Amino acid sequence: MTTTVVNHVVAGSDYVGESERTAPVFDPALGVATKEVRLASTADMDAAVKAAEAALPGWAGMSMTKRNQVLFRFRELLEAKKGELAEIITSEHGKVLSDALGEITRGQEVVEFACGLPHLLKGEFSLNASTGVDVYSLKQPLGVVGIISPFNFPAMVPMWFFPVAIAAGNTVILKPSEKDPSAANWMAALWKEAGLPDGVFNVVHGDKEAVDALLEHPTVQSISFVGSTPIARYVYETGARAGKRVQALGGAKNHMLVLPDADLDLVADSAVNAGFGSAGERCMAISVVVAVDPVGDELVQAISSKMSEIRVGDGRRSCDMGPLVTEAHRDKVASYIDIAEQDGASVVVDGRGVSPDGEAGGFWLGPTLVDKVPTSSKVYTEEIFGPVLSVVRVPSYDEGVELINSGAFGNGTAIFTNDGGAARKFVTDIEVGMVGVNVPIPVPMAYFSFGGWKHSLFGDSRAHGEEGFRFFTRQKVVTSRWLDPSHGGLNLGFPQN
Ligand code: NAD
Repeated sequence: MTTTVVNHVVAGSDYVGESERTAPVFDPALGVATKEVRLASTADMDAAVKAAEAALPGWAGMSMTKRNQVLFRFRELLEAKKGELAEIITSEHGKVLSDALGEITRGQEVVEFACGLPHLLKGEFSLNASTGVDVYSLKQPLGVVGIISPFNFPAMVPMWFFPVAIAAGNTVILKPSEKDPSAANWMAALWKEAGLPDGVFNVVHGDKEAVDALLEHPTVQSISFVGSTPIARYVYETGARAGKRVQALGGAKNHMLVLPDADLDLVADSAVNAGFGSAGERCMAISVVVAVDPVGDELVQAISSKMSEIRVGDGRRSCDMGPLVTEAHRDKVASYIDIAEQDGASVVVDGRGVSPDGEAGGFWLGPTLVDKVPTSSKVYTEEIFGPVLSVVRVPSYDEGVELINSGAFGNGTAIFTNDGGAARKFVTDIEVGMVGVNVPIPVPMAYFSFGGWKHSLFGDSRAHGEEGFRFFTRQKVVTSRWLDPSHGGLNLGFPQN
């Protein structure tokens, strides 16, 4: 039964707005709607942008020391209370509690990185560039910035962006996924407790109407989007047309290339953990194992044997893998198993008959392994975003690399081998943004930047790291001379000494 309404958070308070539209929020392990979330109208978004605009001069003008103190307090509160946030995530997303805590920890690392703001916002200075002339650069905030996030990491993905945006002196509108909206409100309350001035961090819930209002709003300076590729492309094109700076991270289809000399036990563990963690609803999940002959049979046997140990059930119990986020998504993912059968692949482990440790109405689908997937099948070409792991066999390393490089996406990939030379060649040859060597989910640390190639990223800026600070600041170069009578007089040329 629906009991709670998730409101927007504007200027530090709950905000109802004028829109009467709402969407149900499900507990995926129970299969019932437990909350409703408000879906903002264009006018609701405008009210939030006005609040963010009003907070901008105070926040952007505050000393870095004081801004930094707020960030440190947010980090301390997050560390102390993250168990509460993990429970919220599990109750709306479905991932198991330990995995929810894991995503918060990865987000917290970006907060910790952003606490280095005094160093990261330093400009450059050249003394006496010309006689008596000094040149220096400044990094200033953009203004009001927008963040639009997907359902699969309701805490971590927003934290890829907002700690950096706020550290740099911007004010923020976060439009989270309507499927699991409460984590954003919890983080807004934490910012308030940390002493962030009202209006610096605002949360507006909604669907396409809210996204379009943010993309078109003349006050909003930039958009950081993460989600599926078709929406990423739309957001990139619409936001850029409206004159905004846009970074839009899209979908993925991540391959793991296994060479015959690899340690197959390590490979099987890695494939299972990276394929079925968070029920495969991770943009860096491994979805295709590319087995170089002759390891295919032995590898499929090792993976399927480890899969039999995975306990599927309610993420609040001691399980390894939870349900999928919605019934519709579960059905769509399961339909790819039907397609695999029709296309002549071999379904080695079938998750459709899973017996979960949870309520019968939950959105369950067990881990599934499909071998000998034809590369023409939609099971191979499309992003499935669920617990369906494909195996494709290739005769050689070169054909494995060619297969990976011919794909539409370029988010993450990994090679498993004990041959350093082969690994080094792979790292150089592969056309993918994030690469693992015997590491299946190579998510960069907060002080590097996260982002893929090709249809996995539209725009030229990745998330966090130094690129994050560059994205959320505008640079200015100042050439300065103080009155010196020796430099007077008429001179139409460039100064040369
Ligand atoms: P999604 O594209 O459906 O939604 C993402 C955001 O866009 C949400 O806030 C949603 O409300 C909004 N949205 C949905 N439909 C829209 C429309 N028609 N117009 C405007 N806005 C719209 O994605 P999702 O299902 O929430 O998340 C899963 C996807 O995100 C997968 O494709 C996954 O690979 C991708 N993802 C990518 C990364 C990455 O780093 N590249 C990280 C996480 C997730």
